[in-house]
Amino acid sequence: MDCIFCKIIAGEIPSNKLYEDEKVYAFYDIAPEAPVHFLVIPKEHIKCASDINDSNSDIIAHIFTVISKLAKELSLDDGYRIVNNCGQNGGQTVEHLHFHVLGGRLLAWPPG
Ligand code: 5GP
Ligand code: ZN
Repeated sequence: MDCIFCKIIAGEIPSNKLYEDEKVYAFYDIAPEAPVHFLVIPKEHIKCASDINDSNSDIIAHIFTVISKLAKELSLDDGYRIVNNCGQNGGQTVEHLHFHVLGGRLLAWPPG
């Protein structure tokens, strides 16, 4: 499968890894939009949020526990934003489900 994030998980493309376990992989975004910007992805190739279902939603719950842990480790005590872009209108450019975590500055709302 020609998926950048599957290749990052496999170590075929280098990444700045923050965390890894049997289910998920977390790494810094190559083009950060905030002082702290990392991505948390399931190791299983799930294309987008629309493909979350009863058989794989345990990974999503786990991703949120990992985000909570990493946010504490990175001292994002003033808050942060979790973003999932889904599909064309959502601005998704990599078709492997990922959650952006952005912090370290005040973020505007709503997004453009
Ligand atoms: P999307 O636009 O799909 O929500 O987000 C994809 C994100 O992946 C972008 O923020 C982009 O900078 C990041 N990205 C794309 N290719 C790579 C890569 O090879 N390595 C890393 N670390 N991030 C990447
Ligand atoms: Zn993939």
